[in-house]
Amino acid sequence: MKILVTGGAGFIGSHVADALVEAGHSVVVVDDLSTGREPNLNSRAKFQKADIRDPGLEELFARERFDVVVHQVAKANVRESMQQPILYADVNVLGSLNLLELARKHGVRKFVYASTGGAVYGEPQYLPVDEAHPINALDPYGASKHHVEHYLYLYRANYGLQYTVLRYPNVYGPRQDPYGEAGVVAIFTNQMLGRKQVTINGTGEQQRDFVYVGDIAHANVMSLEKGDGEIYNIGSGRGTSINEIYDQLRELTEYPLQGTYGPPKLGEVYRVYLDARKAGAQLGWEAATRLDAGLAKTVEYFRRANSQ
Ligand code: NAD
Repeated sequence: MKILVTGGAGFIGSHVADALVEAGHSVVVVDDLSTGREPNLNSRAKFQKADIRDPGLEELFARERFDVVVHQVAKANVRESMQQPILYADVNVLGSLNLLELARKHGVRKFVYASTGGAVYGEPQYLPVDEAHPINALDPYGASKHHVEHYLYLYRANYGLQYTVLRYPNVYGPRQDPYGEAGVVAIFTNQMLGRKQVTINGTGEQQRDFVYVGDIAHANVMSLEKGDGEIYNIGSGRGTSINEIYDQLRELTEYPLQGTYGPPKLGEVYRVYLDARKAGAQLGWEAATRLDAGLAKTVEYFRRANSQ
């Protein structure tokens, strides 16, 4: 298939592009390199540096005749979204809408969309959270991500454009930005390998659902042929505390210092993990990489990256 991967220079998008190329597809990446990096690009994919809001992307759609758009671009920082809600709506909602319009006009069959299970449900009413849980996004990031799910629904109903929504958990692995505010595994790993002081926000007992990025990429590949018109939680079904992540990484990096505890980050969900049984039954997907194995691969990646 001919596939457009937006955000293919970023953390998750680059793994998605790799998995699609590996599966034999012809991949074109669009990314503005705002947080993505050129070394992440798959050498067998074509690359166009562009903003997804650019109407000039029409030329690319007319030329390439994509079968599927796998949409990974987003501004994806919860705290930044509180400061810049209009920017988040602009990129995440209007940028996605630009792509949907182009997909509709140029005969794209399907749109695979990276949504978020960490931000659309708000503070969960029950755990693990399934897809029937009310949508109670508490921040502009979550609201903008969910907004696009609704557009997907109406583009399918009105124009027959198929879609699959994948609501990701806390994704971790190689190429995650260790200098951002989110991405605790990358941040801790990098600080520990550099023998820098690690600070845990709050008590460290807050829980998240951590899934290795290779498994996330796999869910995207599976969605090419399955899951039309469906929304799936992509998660492990287990909550892991930040203290547990800290302990495992401390061992893997042989970190000699003691982490300290800082004030909690306001406005953050305390505990969320996702019931992904629907993705298991319908896509055949599971979080195949165990946490200890995934963390070991991640530490290995940062060790090599830091020694270059
Ligand atoms: P990332 O920042 O590494 O990737 C986003 C990519 O989009 C970057 O390469 C960036 O350069 C590009 N980009 C940003 N704005 C753009 C624009 N206007 N035009 C073109 N390119 C633009 O982030 P990520 O963690 O890989 O996230 C990928 C997707 O997964 C996002 O849609 C995010 O909402 C979703 N998600 C991520 C997580 C996670 O744990 N990382 C969890 C849930 C959902």
